[in-house]
Amino acid sequence: NKRIIIIGGVAGGATVASQIRRLDDQCDIVIYEKRPSFSFANCGLPYHLSHEVEDIESLYAASVDEFDNKRNIKVHLNHEVINIDTKVNKITIKDEHNEQTTDTYDFLILSPGAHAKRLEVRGQHRQFVLHNIEQLEDIESSIKTHDIQNVTIIGAGYIALEAAENLKERGLNVSIINRSDQYYKAVDRQFNDDLRDTLLSNDIKLYEHCEVDQIDAHQVILNNGQTILSDLVITAIGITPSTQFIQSSQIDLIDDKFIKVNALNQTSVDNVYALGDAIMTRRAIDNQPIHLPLAWITHRDATTIAHHITNTKIDKPSQGVYSASIIRLFDLTIATVGLKESELTDEYIKIEHSGYDRAGYMPDKEKIQIIVYIDPSTHQVARASAIGGRDVSKYIDLITMSMMNQMVVEDFINIEPTYSPPYASPKSIINMIGYKAINAFKK
Ligand code: FAD
Repeated sequence: NKRIIIIGGVAGGATVASQIRRLDDQCDIVIYEKRPSFSFANCGLPYHLSHEVEDIESLYAASVDEFDNKRNIKVHLNHEVINIDTKVNKITIKDEHNEQTTDTYDFLILSPGAHAKRLEVRGQHRQFVLHNIEQLEDIESSIKTHDIQNVTIIGAGYIALEAAENLKERGLNVSIINRSDQYYKAVDRQFNDDLRDTLLSNDIKLYEHCEVDQIDAHQVILNNGQTILSDLVITAIGITPSTQFIQSSQIDLIDDKFIKVNALNQTSVDNVYALGDAIMTRRAIDNQPIHLPLAWITHRDATTIAHHITNTKIDKPSQGVYSASIIRLFDLTIATVGLKESELTDEYIKIEHSGYDRAGYMPDKEKIQIIVYIDPSTHQVARASAIGGRDVSKYIDLITMSMMNQMVVEDFINIEPTYSPPYASPKSIINMIGYKAINAFKK
């Protein structure tokens, strides 16, 4: 039997293991996971802070026993891989008692993910981060044990905003420290005021253009001298791939930290594959390398690897990523796809549209604002951002589909929406973008 070893047992690792088993019931599959938990939904972590997801157990997709008994996949928790020797297909593992063992593989799959960055400031040990289930439990138990009322969040990316929203919904006083005045930078700058207004109207205090100088037990001191009453600090300022243990191996890394892979997720070494937050992936629009630590590509790559290792043909390989992303911020949905705003030149044709997600006479209609940038040479969408009601996701998803299929924007007038007043208008927002684009090209 061929022996497949997987490093990391959460999004990428657990998924690729299950996918391989579905395609091959003979091979041996072994997962090494350095922490005590495995196969949980990282993306769901913020929603337990408000208890919108009440039961923390529901965040687990499967247990070690289920993997063992139902899927015949052996999972070793508290086992950290500390070295890889690809010349002899061998890894070295350290368990919770610091005992070292070795194991050998025919195929090796790396999904070690990333870890949350922390600030190096006075009182830095007081920082919490939210990147795995144990860290969520630490935050939860601190809130309960110390009856925490005032929380400060450092950062303004999506994890910071999701944590802020959920802690506010829990009834706590929440402050955000932001070194700029932009929130969720993936979305167009033009929408920033809407994000800020939503945060402020939900009574979240914003400290902008400042940095943390010191974290005390009950306050955070900023570099401008301001102090924020705060019993708990959550830092969400980005992540670093957990690839230190790979640095001494023969596997190529980019910038010393991102695992280099090709379109089939093969690393520079034969029979070694990688996926997830630790890899540098590929952007479909221009084939440029991009680090996109999100769940969709991790799951997609798990399928790619499973098919390649088991020699089962996948119908169509992935084209790479279009960088689609979305967040909920209270009653606002915000989503984007495509190139970064900063990458666009004046040549791109900008179409703006604001409309309702359902017929204008329906009482529960929600407004949606959308900005689309069109490449003047291909007439295809290069980037889009939208904010408003929940259907923002529908329009961004349609646009992603158009990009995948190299559809020209003029053809958007022919996208036939499902229509009934509670769901859309006969002339849908996606059609309106097409009409406006046709007019723009006539000018
Ligand atoms: P992980 O799922 O983090 O798993 C890596 C595992 O490898 C870890 O458990 C780690 O302990 C283990 N490991 C590391 N080194 C070793 C070693 N040497 N030996 C053994 N084990 C090791 N993405 C979205 O698309 N949408 C979202 O809404 C979204 N929300 C998120 C919210 C939060 C709070 C977080 C943290 C992430 C979110 N993500 C979201 C990102 C998404 O969860 C990641 O892209 C995905 O988990 C990456 O999978 P991975 O396998 O690379 O890493």
